[in-house]
Amino acid sequence: MKTATHRFDALMDITARPPIVFVRGEGSYLWDDSGKRYLDFMQGWAVNCLGHAPALISEALAAQSRLLLTPSPAFYNAPSLELAKALTYQSCFDQVFFANSGAEANEGAIKLARRYGDIFRGGAFEIITFDGAFHGRTLATMSASGKKAFDVLFEPKVPGFPRAQLNDLESVQRLINSNTVAVMLEPIQGEAGVWPASDLFLRKLRELTRAHGLLLIVDEIQTGIGRTGKLFAHQHAGIEPDIMTLGKGIGGGVPLAALLATRHVSCFVHGDQGGTYNGNPLMCAVGLAVLREVGTVGFLKSVTDTGLYLESELQRLSARHGLGEVRGKGLLLALDLKLPIAAELVAQAFEAGLLLNAPRPDTLRLMPALNVTHAEIAEMIDGLDRVLTRIGAARCVA
Ligand code: PLP
Repeated sequence: MKTATHRFDALMDITARPPIVFVRGEGSYLWDDSGKRYLDFMQGWAVNCLGHAPALISEALAAQSRLLLTPSPAFYNAPSLELAKALTYQSCFDQVFFANSGAEANEGAIKLARRYGDIFRGGAFEIITFDGAFHGRTLATMSASGKKAFDVLFEPKVPGFPRAQLNDLESVQRLINSNTVAVMLEPIQGEAGVWPASDLFLRKLRELTRAHGLLLIVDEIQTGIGRTGKLFAHQHAGIEPDIMTLGKGIGGGVPLAALLATRHVSCFVHGDQGGTYNGNPLMCAVGLAVLREVGTVGFLKSVTDTGLYLESELQRLSARHGLGEVRGKGLLLALDLKLPIAAELVAQAFEAGLLLNAPRPDTLRLMPALNVTHAEIAEMIDGLDRVLTRIGAARCVA
């Protein structure tokens, strides 16, 4: 018989977590088990695109759960067919494979590119990726990522991911050889600190990949489903990639992800790809509800407008406190703090009931719900202002 230990001890300790438990969420707010309320500008890392616990998601879950949970991925089900149809109608892609996490969708994209290389490119398998990229935490997606901290983990890595520099076309050109099958990138590198690929770079990259017969894979796990003010971020550049992955926002808080490809590139053969929960109706019903909401008239325009408001408020705050630039698009923005104070800032904001994210020691990343209100933004800016003032005063004294 095991004796009771600390209440958190039975969970693997995979990251530093504050010693509180969240029990409820509504829109832009979360409550912990002591009743304390937090204003959430992380939203599960850009996952809850419609905020916490929106009624349309609980209704979709309840309705679908009364009908059918999982027949088996070896049979068709209505929500996955409908969601695949809706996604392909609204994009340049023709076919979809549904997965449970972003990493799994990206793993699928890597496999699809390798299968394509096998069939059409004489066994080419290398996928050019980028310094600073983040594609997930499976072995292949860690290998494809350009996150410095991953370089020494879980060796040996999966081979075949030479790295170029974002917004530097020549660095891509130099890596192309007869083994190259694809180039893979995030339209905005989120985990690296919100670094956008320029529209010009994306267009040139599309030309370059076409000229060499290479696939262009966009990882829109963080940027997709309206986050940047268009349904997909690559649409700002007016390009048509061959493969796209979605995650986070498409499930609005439930585990749903997708791998999309054009018809010619959809070349998996039976046995290549699968997974027990792929395309399960419960999650796909939620995906449909989310996509319908994001597709309502004026929704994306309001993301753009709200993003511009958040950006201008951050710029005013930056000027007031002598901070750096504001980067990003729509409601995926970063504030350069110019000093490595992000961890301290996030900790103090947390105490004050404000949830913020710091992807780098000197950078804050803002990724609120897409329906965040101006009043909630003003409340966040007020809280951030107070914390910055306190930290600034403490640094002056020190
Ligand atoms: N790709 C990008 C661009 C991401 O931002 C993330 C997660 O942060 C992933 C892939 C991995 O997604 P998941 O954590 O759902 O596996």
